This record gives sequence, structure tokens and C-alpha cells, in this order.
Amino acid sequence: MTPVRLYDSFRREKVLFEPLEPGVVGMYVCGPTPYAPAHIGHAYSAIAFDTIRRSLRFLGYQVRYVRNITDVEDKIIKRGNETGEDPMALAARFAADYNRDMARFGVLPPDIEPKVSTHIAEIIALIERLIATGCAYQVDGDVNFEIAKFPAYGALSGMKLDELRAGERVEVDPRKRSPDDFALWKAAKPGEPAWGSPWGKGRPGWHIECSAMTHAHLGDTFDLHGGGKDLIFPHHENEIAQSRGAYGPRSFARYWLHNGFLNFKGEKMSKSLGNVVDCSQIADTVGGEALRLFCVSHHFRSPVDFDFEAIRDGDGHVTGARFHSLEAADKKLEYFYTTLKRIDDFIAQSGNTGDAGDGKVLPEADKLIPDARVALADDFNTPVAMAALHEAAALANRLLDEPKGIDKQVRRRTLARLARDLRAVGVALGVFAADPAVYLAERRARLVQRRGIDAAAVERLIADRAAARAAKDFARSDAIRGELTALGVALHDTPRGTEWSVLDTAS
Ligand SMILES: [Zn+2]
Repeated sequence: MTPVRLYDSFRREKVLFEPLEPGVVGMYVCGPTPYAPAHIGHAYSAIAFDTIRRSLRFLGYQVRYVRNITDVEDKIIKRGNETGEDPMALAARFAADYNRDMARFGVLPPDIEPKVSTHIAEIIALIERLIATGCAYQVDGDVNFEIAKFPAYGALSGMKLDELRAGERVEVDPRKRSPDDFALWKAAKPGEPAWGSPWGKGRPGWHIECSAMTHAHLGDTFDLHGGGKDLIFPHHENEIAQSRGAYGPRSFARYWLHNGFLNFKGEKMSKSLGNVVDCSQIADTVGGEALRLFCVSHHFRSPVDFDFEAIRDGDGHVTGARFHSLEAADKKLEYFYTTLKRIDDFIAQSGNTGDAGDGKVLPEADKLIPDARVALADDFNTPVAMAALHEAAALANRLLDEPKGIDKQVRRRTLARLARDLRAVGVALGVFAADPAVYLAERRARLVQRRGIDAAAVERLIADRAAARAAKDFARSDAIRGELTALGVALHDTPRGTEWSVLDTAS
């Protein structure tokens, strides 16, 4: 396996990553609180950590990847009470939708997907331990964590408690020893799901849930903990206080990874503007893989501009969306899939398959895998890996277009090697897994839909043009081609007949 250097948000520097057990990585990522359809922010984080997991595998590590479902939480209960749906059923429904949506972005299912509702016993045991170590206290059926008993509090976020509340009016809660103390267990209220506990019926607080689930599946100490930057405070800070308060200062996550924020360029998506676009709409409009490619074209820690524009009807109601950043990514993806298809067709026509690994190839073709390895081992630098993919695809297209001066066998083997390695690096980034012909057909269908092209009319015109050509009526055949161009359609005459694609103009 390849040694990895990563930026640890706890130490605030790039460090050599040394897993507890060489070659084996235990990784926990805070998963969704499913109470509404997943939006782009959820997808961005899920893709970031899925890419890190895939990259570690590519670099030779075995990864045990735990991503939870927070199915007991205030927001779920609130939504359930608003809509009249049972909160547990509501959470289960949106969790299933979340996983379906993430799969469209190439996010692999976690190895373990613990749910709060099936870890209540572990949560209670952890709270009991915190009471025993003196970090937590019980007041009327509630249990709170006492921050004053954990002097290391604030080490991850750099927050100091007195700064925290500067200028803020704090409502005095007589049941808390300090306003900063946070709930581990909340006494049952009417209309809320509740479980029996030594402190009476109630339910866990959000933060303790993750501490208990990491412990259940990764033990006292594990390698990597991930989540969005917005979770650093208070969620991750509280997770550290709880876990270390219970299991000692050397326990819990050894390295912390946080993904950056998405900046909305153009329009800001917000519920109040009524223009929130959920994940399934993105995948339907531009294809899930375009979002994936967009994400891995940026470093997961950097803030990323997301260019989006809502389409509104005359009354100002949002009827759709233009995803400018994703349309650009979709075009890049078309280039890669077209390259792969050209190579696959070439290899198939040369009547030979499957010897990509053997024999002499052009030395430039052997760079891709090592270059991608170097990039990903350096804090999972996917943009640099993307650049290596671009270089390899450019080489492949050159070999396809200009065969002169290259030995036939070497050329064929080099192309086969490039296709194999483009796909291997694609696995690490979560792209290029589709059959190129299928991908290109689906992309065309999306463009046809987006631009309102009548596909049946296109097929009819192509048939008319074929008839005109057969009758040697070239004026007519040229006129039909002109008509198709005006419709936004490009023709490609191939040995298999005339194929068509949608021209890359503004949608
Ligand atoms: Zn968490």
C-alpha cells in the first residue's frame, strides 16, 4: 500500500497517516438526518467521503466504512408532528430515498450503516459511563454533559467557551449547571418516540448517538472521522468530549477530515426563495455522474462555487433549473466516454481483446496509474488525478487519430492499456463505470428532453436523408442535414449507419 499524507483538521496540518493496524482503515462519517429529500449539500459531503474511501482502496488499504443514519432527532420529530406521519416511518422513508439518490452519484453503500433506533442500549450504556466518570449529571429525567468536567473541550474547533457566548443573550435553564452543557438524554414529551432508560422514558440527544455508534462498530479508538465543516462545532466537538470523557484522552478518532462548503454562484438556493433543488432533480436533469465528476474535479477541502439558476414561469414560480457548473462537467464526461467508446470499438474491430496488461506499450501510457497514486496519496488530491486522466485520454485520441509511425501491435496494446487504466482510476474517483454506449445514449435522451427535441421527427428526417442519398439526390440530402442542424442535431455517418447526437450549444 502507498503511504498517505492527509490534512488532519484536529492538528491543523498535513500529516503522515498511520492507521492503528497497517493497511486497515476504520472510518466513520456522520450520515444524514432523514426528514426531507437530500439536497446538493448532502450529496457533496457523501461524494467527498465516498471518494476518500475509494481512494484508500485504490492505494491498497482495506477500509471498514461506517456511515450512520440519524433516525432519532428533533427535526424528524418536528416534521412528523407537522405532517402527521410517524417519525420513525418518515425517517425510514427518507433514508431509503437518500440511499437511492446517493447511488445515482456513484456513492457506494457503507460497509455498516448503523441507525440510532437500533443502538439505544449502547447509547444508554455510554451515558451511564459518563455519569460514572463524573462528566454527566441527571436532572428530572434529562441527562446533560457537563462541559466544565472536560477541560480539553474546544480543541477541534478552537472555540473558547467564553468567546462562544460573547454578545449572546443566554436563556437561563435552571436544570443545567452551565448554559453550555448539552443534552445526552431527553425526558419523553408527548408525541415523541421514547425508550425506557434508568432515567425514565426518553430519547437520546444528537451528539451522543454518533459517539455510541462509533464505539459499537469501530471500538474505543479508530482511524478516521469525517463530516462536513459545518459539523465541527458543536457536533464533533461534543462527540470528542463524550467519547474521551468515557474512554480516556487517547480514545476516539485519531484523524479528522472535513469537507468544504459549496458556495452558490449566481443564485443562492434557499427554502425561503422556493428554489431548493433536490438530488433526484439534479440526477434527472444532468445525470448523477456529472455531479460526481464536478465534485472530484475540486479538492474536497476547498470551497467550491456552484453555478445554478432557477427557471421560473410568468408568475415567478420555480419550474426547473439550469446547472451551469454541472453542464460543463457533463460535457467533460461525454469526452471521456466518447474516448472510451472509440477505444473499445477500435479494439473490437482489431479482433483482439484482453491483453492490455502484457507486452510493450508506449511509455507515456504507463504514467496514469502512478500519477493517480501520487495525487491521491497527497491528501486525496482528486483534481490532480483528474488532470492525469485528461492527459491519458488526450494520448488515446492522438493514437486513434494519427496512427502513422507506430507499430500496429504497440498501438493496439497501448490503447487497451489506456482504457483499462482510465477505468481503474475511474473506480477510485467513482466515474466511468457505465458502458460508454449506454451512457452516451442516456445523455442524448436527457439533452433531447431538456431542449424539447422531437426524437421521432429526427429519425424520420434521417430516414428521408438516407433515401435521398440512395437516389443520389445530394441537394435534398444536404438540405435535410441543414434542417437537422437547425434543430440542434449533429449527424455521424459510421459503418453501422447514420448516428446522431445533440449539438453542444446552450441548452
Ligand atoms: Zn456525528
